[in-house]
Amino acid sequence: MGAAMSDIHEQLAELKQLGRCRRLRLVSGPQGATVLLEGKPVLLLCSNNYLGLADHPRVREAAAEAAMRWGVGAGASRLVSGTMTIHRRLEERLAAFERREACLLFGSGYLANIGVIGALAGRGDTVFSDELNHASIIDGCRLSRADVVVYRHLDVEHLEWSLRRHARREAGRRLIVTDSVFSMDGDLAPLEMIVELARAYAARLVVDEAHAIGALGPDGRGVLAQAGLHGEVDVLVGTLGKALGSYGAFVCADREMVRYLINASRSLIFSTAPAPPAVAGALAALELVQERPHRIERLRSNARALRAALAREGFAVTEEGMHIVPLIVGEEDYAMDLCQAAIERGVFAQAIRPPTVPEGTSRLRLAPMASHTAADMRMAAAVLGDAARKLGLDPAAIGSPSRATTDAGEADEEQELDAPARVASPSPSPFDFERGDSPARVVSPSPRPFDFERGDSPARTAVSASASPRAPVGAPRPNAPFDGERESSIRAA
Ligand code: PMP
Repeated sequence: MGAAMSDIHEQLAELKQLGRCRRLRLVSGPQGATVLLEGKPVLLLCSNNYLGLADHPRVREAAAEAAMRWGVGAGASRLVSGTMTIHRRLEERLAAFERREACLLFGSGYLANIGVIGALAGRGDTVFSDELNHASIIDGCRLSRADVVVYRHLDVEHLEWSLRRHARREAGRRLIVTDSVFSMDGDLAPLEMIVELARAYAARLVVDEAHAIGALGPDGRGVLAQAGLHGEVDVLVGTLGKALGSYGAFVCADREMVRYLINASRSLIFSTAPAPPAVAGALAALELVQERPHRIERLRSNARALRAALAREGFAVTEEGMHIVPLIVGEEDYAMDLCQAAIERGVFAQAIRPPTVPEGTSRLRLAPMASHTAADMRMAAAVLGDAARKLGLDPAAIGSPSRATTDAGEADEEQELDAPARVASPSPSPFDFERGDSPARVVSPSPRPFDFERGDSPARTAVSASASPRAPVGAPRPNAPFDGERESSIRAA
C-alpha cells in the first residue's frame, strides 16, 4: 500500500507541477441558463444541455413519475432482467425518429462507442478513426484490439489513402468511425464523402451524432438526416445526456445489426440497463423536441447572437456556424486565466486543456443553450472581450479553427501521404487520453491496462485447467465477440 500511495502522490504532484491537476467545481441547482458556481451566480455557458430540457418541468415530471411507476434502478443488465417496457418504448420512438428499423439503448455515449466498436472490430481488423474523434471512440478502438489507423482531421484524401493501403489485406473487417459534429471544435465531418469511401472500400461506418441529435438537422434528427444519409451508415450513435437532457445513449441501425450488438457489445452485456427515470426523462424530451421545434431554432439563433457579439468584440469567430463555439487561446495558462477572469465577471465557460484537446490549442468551449436570451449572449461576449483585454490577450488571436473539409494540411500532403504508417504502442501515462496525436499512425493497442478480457485472468485459467468432460464449453477463443455469453455459461457451469 505504501508504494502504491507514493505512486499516486507522485503522479498528483507531477500534474500539479504541470498545472494540469483538475478539480471538480460545484454547481448548485439544475443546469439552467444561470447557476450558482461555488456560491457565485454565473451565466452557464459550457453545458451540453443544448435545448434546456434537463430542467424542463415536463421532463422532470416524466422522470419523477417513472421513478414511482418503475422504480429507480433497472436492476440488471439488459440481457438478464434489465429490459423493461420503458426501454422498449424509447427504443421504438428513437428508431421512428431516426427512420431506422431498430434502436438499442446503452448506459451512456461512452459505453455505446466502446460497445459498438468492440463488436464491429477485433484482432486482425482495422479501424479508421478521425484524429479528433471523442475519447470514447479512441478508447473503443483501443479496447477492440484492432489495428487503428488515425487519419487527419476531416481529411478524406488521407482516409482514402489509408483505406487503399489496407485494402490489400484480404482478411479482416474494416470500420470507419467519426463524430458528425466534433465535440471540441464544432466542425462537421464530410459525411457524404466518407459514406462513399465506406462503400468503395467495403468498410462499415459508425457515426457519432452525440452533439447533433436534438440540435441539428430536420426536427433535430442530426447531420446524417440533414444530408439524407441516415440510411447509409451501419450504426448511428446518439446520446441522451446532451440535447435530450437526461443520461444514457442509443444506437440506431437495421434489425440485424441491433440483434448482433445485443450479442456482441460487452458494454451492453456487462452493464446495468439505463435507469427508468433517465429513460422516461429522455422520452419526454424527445416528445418536446418533436412537438416544439422552436427550441432548436432558439439554440441556433443564440449561437448566431453569441458568434456575432464575439466577432464585434474582435474575436476571430464567424457569425455562421455551429452551437459549439471554441475560443482557442493556445497556451493552457492563458486559457485558465481567461476562464477565471470570465467567472469573476459572471460567465462560466470551463477551459479545456490537453489531453482533452491537442497541445497548444487550449480553449474555452462555449456552448449556448436554447434557454439563454440574446441579451445573455451579448453580455457573455462583452465579458469575454473585457476579460481577454484585461489579461493582455488580443481577441483577434483567439477564435475558432478555420478549416475546409477537403484541404486540411495540403502543404505537406504529398510527403505525409507517402510516408509509411508508423506503428506505435499507446503511451503508458494514465493522463494521456491518447488523442491519436499523429496522423497516419497505426496503433496496436497494448492489452493493458484496459484489458478486461477474462480470458487472461486466473479465473478463466482455472476453468480451462479443470475442464472436465462435462464442461459445457471448450477453450474460449480470445476476443471472440460472443465471449460475453460464453463467460456467463462458464460462471453458470
Ligand atoms: N461522443 C461524443 C462526441 C461526446 O462528446 C461524448 C460526451 N462528451 C460522448 C460520445 C459520450 O457520451 P456520454 O456523455 O453519454 O457518455
